[in-house]
Amino acid sequence: MQEFSRLVPTTTQAAARAGAVPQASFIAGGTDLMQLWKNNVQAASLVVDLDRLDLRRISLDGPTLRIGALATMAEVAEHPDVKRRVPAASEALLAAASPQIRNMGTAGGNLLQRTRCGYFRDPGFACNKREPGSGCPAIAGENRELAILGGSGSCIATQPSDFPVPLVAADARVELHGADGQTRTVELEQLYRLPGDTPHIETVLRPGEVITAILVPDAPANRRATYVKVRDRQSYAYALASVAAGIELQGGVVRDVRLAAGGVGTRPWRLDASEATLRGQRLSPALIEQAAARATDGAQPHAKNAFKVTLLRNTVRRALQAVTA
Ligand SMILES: Cc1cc2nc3c(=O)[nH]c(=O)nc-3n(C[C@H](O)[C@H](O)[C@H](O)COP(=O)(O)OP(=O)(O)OC[C@H]3O[C@@H](n4cnc5c(N)ncnc54)[C@H](O)[C@@H]3O)c2cc1C
Ligand code: SF4
Repeated sequence: MQEFSRLVPTTTQAAARAGAVPQASFIAGGTDLMQLWKNNVQAASLVVDLDRLDLRRISLDGPTLRIGALATMAEVAEHPDVKRRVPAASEALLAAASPQIRNMGTAGGNLLQRTRCGYFRDPGFACNKREPGSGCPAIAGENRELAILGGSGSCIATQPSDFPVPLVAADARVELHGADGQTRTVELEQLYRLPGDTPHIETVLRPGEVITAILVPDAPANRRATYVKVRDRQSYAYALASVAAGIELQGGVVRDVRLAAGGVGTRPWRLDASEATLRGQRLSPALIEQAAARATDGAQPHAKNAFKVTLLRNTVRRALQAVTA
């Protein structure tokens, strides 16, 4: 592990300015970053610790639920406004990691944890994401847990976090504070870049930009929502496939629906074709079946993860059945 100096700023502006320096890295709960440093997957010469920033509050701002980026995963999961406004986000967090990690890990850190691709996490292997241009052994190798949606010839790694999946379904945005003192908001789905031929550039964050909050709009389909996660074991396991489903029904007709999937895409994956199949139609088992089938439009499975095509369809069906029961 490389030696580094540590800075603990007390204002977001000071943090953003310090974080803009090349080789600087923000740290929040440290639960992902510490592993990456110890295993020499990632290094930083300056660590900017966000711990003292006033970014922990969870509050209602009119119709918007505002989740401070430094609120812990446990605090977010248990907050009454989160449970009421976006219950699928609470369920996703409670299905993530362990109680100990949820007490350390933060909302912002979970959005940005790095892929679990085994080649990426082992510097003994080539990996385009870790070392641009070195190759992607996963495409012809061990890809059981990797993406069937959004991959490229350079990288098929999944974004592994649970929390952003229901947030993408809920049309959440992230609030960002830049080194130039400017604040902007970005749709959470658009925070993540598709790998293309530059898989090492994972987000649209500018140097030094701090995630300050997650903003979730209020909508009936966000309030009536659930999260279904399928994994190899019931705890300490990442999703092989997961689905956040939210719905608003009026007289048996689908007025609004929001669907996103995790564990299958190179970013949290909005299921637009499934939503379009459902919207404005009278709900029925046959319609749910059609929507589930459309979830894998554009899927590109690999030798060891073709099972995810059926798994994703089944998970969409389960989530829709659960949320409409
Ligand atoms: C055994 C184990 C099992 C796990 N299982 C799951 C699981 O099932 N599902 C799941 O979702 N996760 C799982 N995790 C991962 C865990 O949830 C993440 O490590 C955690 O959410 C990261 O949050 P953190 O605050 O510790 O981030 P850190 O490790 O501090 O940071 C992660 C990244 O985010 C950046 N960052 C953090 N905060 C900000 C900010 N405000 N602005 C800009 N950049 C920022 C950091 O620079 C870093 O790049 C598991 C982890 C372990 C160890
Ligand atoms: S899938 Fe992506 S992260 Fe995994 S080895 Fe290939 S380039 Fe690296």
